[in-house]
Amino acid sequence: MVQAPAAPHLAPSRQDAPRLSPVKLFEERPNGKQRLWVPKRILVTRSAAGSEIAKHAAERGAALGAEIIHLKGDQVRGLRGETEVETYRRAKSTLAIVNAPPSALKLQPIPPSADFRLDLAVGCPAHCQYCYLAGSLQGPPVTRAYANLDEILSVLPSYLGQGRITSRSDARSHEGTTFEASCYTDPLGIEHLTGSLSRTIEHFASWNREGAEAGLRFTTKYAEVEPLLALDHGGRTRVRFSVNAEAITRRFEGGTAPLQDRLHAMGRLARAGYPVGLTIAPIMPIQDWPEAYGDLFRKAAAELPQDADVTAELITHRFTPGSREVLMGWYPATKLEMDPAVRAQKRNKFGGVKYVYPKELMGEMKAWFASAVAEHLPNAQLLYWT
Ligand code: SF4
Repeated sequence: MVQAPAAPHLAPSRQDAPRLSPVKLFEERPNGKQRLWVPKRILVTRSAAGSEIAKHAAERGAALGAEIIHLKGDQVRGLRGETEVETYRRAKSTLAIVNAPPSALKLQPIPPSADFRLDLAVGCPAHCQYCYLAGSLQGPPVTRAYANLDEILSVLPSYLGQGRITSRSDARSHEGTTFEASCYTDPLGIEHLTGSLSRTIEHFASWNREGAEAGLRFTTKYAEVEPLLALDHGGRTRVRFSVNAEAITRRFEGGTAPLQDRLHAMGRLARAGYPVGLTIAPIMPIQDWPEAYGDLFRKAAAELPQDADVTAELITHRFTPGSREVLMGWYPATKLEMDPAVRAQKRNKFGGVKYVYPKELMGEMKAWFASAVAEHLPNAQLLYWT
């Protein structure tokens, strides 16, 4: 990471906070295993200032060594560097606390995972070279955590019973109307700074006790689940861990928790009564892939208690011309295969192109993964392959 100077117009008032030197992105825990993201700077917009989440983030961030900057307005600016890589680095080392825009209060369907998308934040501190957000976010990839959580949660009742994805599925309608919190962020990756995930988990538990039938879902590549273990979750939040063959997690998933820590965290949550899951993504036919993914399944099974309520979601690697271009700008030296010549094209209803693996290979992998789930996780519900 480069040491990016704060843009002058971003720094009208500052709290005294120690600067990080040299740049430190993750805080090692005493056990040396789990890591917390430490942004270089936390920007608090004018409208978000005074909110519980902004205060929490400023307190926690300052204690970890982040610079706290209170903005005069609501625009998050000044993150562009002279090159794409510099812009990326500045943005990825920044957390902005903002109010969710009105568009985030109109929830969209999110097939095949859930009925509706529920954003607690947009942007993510990790550095995955295949990032799903590439091409979807506008501007520099800064993480924006939403401060107006009460307002966001207040719109949920109007969506109850309106779902068309999981609510209409025979196998999943028992989950109630489902809300997916990890479409545009990794909510656990910033939880130590915002606390908004814990509040949302508890909100779903109490909301269900009041008669709502609703489920919260999120997926993560982090492992710091300690604050979640003692929450009153009511079994209404399914936590899935985004995992992959170890060689892929090591090579392409910068800034995330080690694979074994994620799997261990999944086991801890399952023992605390949470429904859990594996999101195996993005699946890639690397050399000896059946062996590599077989090892993943064996390790996952070893962490789970016998009676775990567990699901599996299987997502193969794909890219679009737009995401490829963004990723090549962010990771110019990447070794990730993004070669349209070895892929099949898939068109959406608007004519957009997606590059996926050829049909025959997809068929072979799909069959293998279905039998691996059945063999290693016989109680798991396989939700989808894509
Ligand atoms: S965890 Fe997800 S959103 Fe975050 S960098 Fe990785 S792929 Fe992108």
